[in-house]
Amino acid sequence: MSSSFVHIVETVLMAVLVLLFIWIYSRQRQPRVALWIAGWVAIVAHFANGIVMANMRQPSALVVWLAYATLIVAGASFVLSVSQACVTTPRRIAFALGGIIPCLIYWAGVVEEWKAAWPFELLLITVMATAAAITLRHYGLRLPVIGACLGMAAPVAWVWPRLAQNSSYGIDYLLFLIFATAGILYARIYGKSNPGSVLTLISFIAWGLVFPVGELLAAYNIGPPGDSAFWDLEKYAVAFGMLLTLFEEKTRIADEVARKYKSAEEAARAANDAKSVFLATMSHEIRTPMNGIIGMTDLVLDGELTPSQREDLLIVKSSAESLLTVINDVLDFSKIEAGKLELENIGFRLQETVFDLVKLMRFRAHEKGLTLDYSIDPRIPAYLTGDPGRLRQVLLNLVGNALKFTRDGGVRIEAALESSRQDSIRVKFSVIDTGIGIPAEKRELIFDPFTQAENSTTRRFGGTGLGLAISSRLVRLMGGEIWVTDGPGGHGSAFHFTSDFTPASVPEQPVFQQNQSAVRLNILLAEDNPVNQLLATRMLEREGHSVRLVQNGAEAIEAAFSAAYDLVLMDIEMPVMDGLEATRHIREREKGARNRRQIVAMTANASRSDELRCLEAGMDGFLTKPFTAEKLRNALEAFTAGAYARSHSR
Ligand code: ADP
Repeated sequence: MSSSFVHIVETVLMAVLVLLFIWIYSRQRQPRVALWIAGWVAIVAHFANGIVMANMRQPSALVVWLAYATLIVAGASFVLSVSQACVTTPRRIAFALGGIIPCLIYWAGVVEEWKAAWPFELLLITVMATAAAITLRHYGLRLPVIGACLGMAAPVAWVWPRLAQNSSYGIDYLLFLIFATAGILYARIYGKSNPGSVLTLISFIAWGLVFPVGELLAAYNIGPPGDSAFWDLEKYAVAFGMLLTLFEEKTRIADEVARKYKSAEEAARAANDAKSVFLATMSHEIRTPMNGIIGMTDLVLDGELTPSQREDLLIVKSSAESLLTVINDVLDFSKIEAGKLELENIGFRLQETVFDLVKLMRFRAHEKGLTLDYSIDPRIPAYLTGDPGRLRQVLLNLVGNALKFTRDGGVRIEAALESSRQDSIRVKFSVIDTGIGIPAEKRELIFDPFTQAENSTTRRFGGTGLGLAISSRLVRLMGGEIWVTDGPGGHGSAFHFTSDFTPASVPEQPVFQQNQSAVRLNILLAEDNPVNQLLATRMLEREGHSVRLVQNGAEAIEAAFSAAYDLVLMDIEMPVMDGLEATRHIREREKGARNRRQIVAMTANASRSDELRCLEAGMDGFLTKPFTAEKLRNALEAFTAGAYARSHSR
């Protein structure tokens, strides 16, 4: 293989590498990579110069000078790219004037075969002094820095006395110094444990050693000739190491970004959870006094009042009730957001659920002169298993909205069988109105929390913008989807949602007979809140029951065993001893006895898991606050009916 051919291959290969660096630079403009490109362009020039040199019998002085000048320029670019000392303009100028130019002149002197030794000595001292000055200026006068400077200067002691015979020792050493420095600074920046950085460090040092080692081998007439491609291998290793480093950097940055993103996401989730918990706690705290307001209002309304007092008080009641609706919405929404809402799975009659709802809303429809009717697909099984309470909540919300946004015409509820398998029934519900309709571009948006189709809506129709957000989440929990279309004929709107149920063959829910003959009960009431004490006592006494009041769980145990009560109404959160623990104590103490006390929980914590906790503690029933006189009456009636039924069947 002719040496000129090898030089051509080397030049082309290096040119390809330069293109690669340029490509990388064009994607991410790092100043450091720009300096690398400058260095590698100088190396391409070095190889190109090699072709010229191989083809000249007697190379001109310029060509010979260029052979090392290109290397000096390349080395200088690499040092500059990684030097943290040469970052200010004055230091860069000092680096060029006191370091690089003297090196270039030194090599010119070698090529021109200057006879005197002193110019070489002077140039060598200039370069060494400049290097030491820049280093000390940046790192300060510290022991390791002084050590590094002395280490740098030490080989000069060997070179110095030999300069007169062989001036090229000086340039060999200077080139070693340039490339070794580039390697060390490179490893300082990119770390000593990354493959790319270690490879680059070693290859730079090898590059620096090429000159003194080559000189030594040539002196003894061993090793490959000076123009062999062998001496260029380390250059490719450096280029490869640099590419590897860029790749590693990119991965490291991507990892860091991913980590930051993840921790930001976690922080956001934690903040969102905290918000949900805060909302849930607040709503719960607000519900308790609301219990007092609504209950006491009910009590006063039950008594003697002038017509205008009654009218005023009814406004108090309806305001309190709408406030309670808002609070319940917020509580529901934050529960769903926090993933704490549990669905029930009980048997119910779809016909009954829809009918009750229509009965409830018909009054409001009539008030506005609207019709409200419903149809149920006869193919839907009569008994289903699912969460009738939540189904009712979604339907109530949709029907409520439909009535709110409709002035003439009416609202229609439809339940159609969508699909039916052995263990799963899919029902499609539609609530269709003839109201103001919803613009197409708002149809996605209205299912987001706190959004309304138009901002003026709030003032005109009221509402929080939470209803549909809750409904859509509930529907999703029930395994279905919710969407909105135009009403029939393009008027009004039609909300549709699907929901999955399991068919139930027998009615699972016991049907209590209403209007039992009034029973007078002897009730033990354990409650610590004074407002609730007064409220519950007054309500119960009004119904003709007799009430003994205790303040906490410990007193409740005491009282429960000192007299016979038909029923214990037990608050859950109480000082000294809470309701759950008191119940457990009572159950423990009555073990083996024939008489089992009936205990019903009263609590504002209305979730399914709270109910389970009460039942696990040994309670027989569950009454959620706030309760109205009617709710309390119904619960007691249902309870006595159930209790009697149980005692009869025993
Ligand atoms: P709210 O009714 O409390 O504002 P919703 O989430 O229930 O909150 O409804 C969001 C918005 O969707 C309403 O403010 C209204 O602009 C629009 N919307 C809902 N139902 C209807 C309907 N049947 N007809 C017209 N617009 C409706």
